Amino acid sequence: MQFDLNEEQTAIRDMVRQFTAREVAPNASDWDEHDYFPRETYKKMAALGLMGMTTPEELGGTPLNRLTGAIVYEELAKGEMAIAVGLSVHNMVTGSLARFGSAEQRSRWVPRLAEGALLGAFSLSEADAGSDAASLTCRAERMGDHYLVTGSKMWVTNGGEADLYLLMARTRPGKGASGISCFVVEKQTAGLTFGKTERKMGLHSSPTRELIFEQCVIPVIQRIGEEGQGFKIALSSLDGGRVNIGAIASGVAQAAFTSARDYARTRKQFGAAIASFQGIQFLLADMAMKIEAARLLVYEAAYKLDRGQQASMYASMAKCLASDTAMEVTTNAVQILGGAGYVRDYPVERYMRDVKVAQIFEGTNQIQRIVIARALLADLHEHTFARGQV
Ligand SMILES: Cc1cc2nc3c(=O)[nH]c(=O)nc-3n(C[C@H](O)[C@H](O)[C@H](O)COP(=O)(O)OP(=O)(O)OC[C@H]3O[C@@H](n4cnc5c(N)ncnc54)[C@H](O)[C@@H]3O)c2cc1C
Repeated sequence: MQFDLNEEQTAIRDMVRQFTAREVAPNASDWDEHDYFPRETYKKMAALGLMGMTTPEELGGTPLNRLTGAIVYEELAKGEMAIAVGLSVHNMVTGSLARFGSAEQRSRWVPRLAEGALLGAFSLSEADAGSDAASLTCRAERMGDHYLVTGSKMWVTNGGEADLYLLMARTRPGKGASGISCFVVEKQTAGLTFGKTERKMGLHSSPTRELIFEQCVIPVIQRIGEEGQGFKIALSSLDGGRVNIGAIASGVAQAAFTSARDYARTRKQFGAAIASFQGIQFLLADMAMKIEAARLLVYEAAYKLDRGQQASMYASMAKCLASDTAMEVTTNAVQILGGAGYVRDYPVERYMRDVKVAQIFEGTNQIQRIVIARALLADLHEHTFARGQV
């Protein structure tokens, strides 16, 4: 296994790096301050092919393998985590539609998603169904040629801004995961309204919103796959999603490290740069060492997915290690900047606020540890382990 980037990967990394430096990083603090969702920047990413990263060429995409995708997310997240998260969700939705949609569904939505004319969102979680997502209750009742959807969904990234929602709803009560089906819902559909936008600790430029369905009519032709396949469809994108979150966390950690190192070189106390104190040097050494380890594990998980190997354990390890590392690194970056780290004049406090959620979404890090332990102890009976969004 080797991760020397080939010519194409180097060109894509450099392109995204320049884009991030030009279009994302200079605006990140402003977007954060004003809870601003930069839809126009998504359009610019579409022009670079980034909104069709999981879309086959014949549907208008510019497909990238997982490793190249991880590099894209890592670079974007160095500028701003929220935009990388919004893009990852969009590509997850587009990829699921391209993979599981009928020919008609694919041609109706996927090319417009890939060109950025439409933005996607993914709606699995509910107020009472988070880690245990298979217990969701939002109901889709079949009535002839349509379903009547009633219930509410929580925590929808891109919620309210997205044009298309991949919805997991219950078609068979009391049937657990096998009673869940997947639908595409367009934003303007009668009976769909948007509830409160969450007031979050970080990730301010990524709207997180509640969806409310009241007697919402969804034609049967908008069901993706067969009845009962919804949870499988949702889970199928999880490994890739976890690698993306690992890459994003690594990018934020790297940005925090760079800020802290640069500050330590110039900040003087006791007549010397604080970087000359061993206490600071050891913090920087640990930060760099852990970022390197996390990034390599992210690349390894992506590499295994690209080779079609069984990679769920590695995807969970990558997401878990990278997000735990990023939380530690961003916290230490704030520490190295002292009081300056705690105020908004520098980006490190934003990095720390933003990256906390990487330990929570796409399956919490406790759930990742369950996935890892289950793979390590596969010979034990399955009921030993918690089930749910794993
Ligand atoms: C900013 C943000 C964006 C999000 N975007 C989306 C989105 O786009 N689409 C979507 O569907 N969802 C989204 N989510 C939801 C996210 O996936 C859930 O928050 C997550 O799965 C955890 O669910 P929960 O919040 O209900 O926590 P809970 O499941 O209630 O967990 C609470 C605590 O209990 C722990 N816990 C739970 N079960 C176990 C167990 N078996 N063993 C040990 N510990 C356990 C958890 O690790 C956690 O520490 C988003 C969340 C946030 C915060």
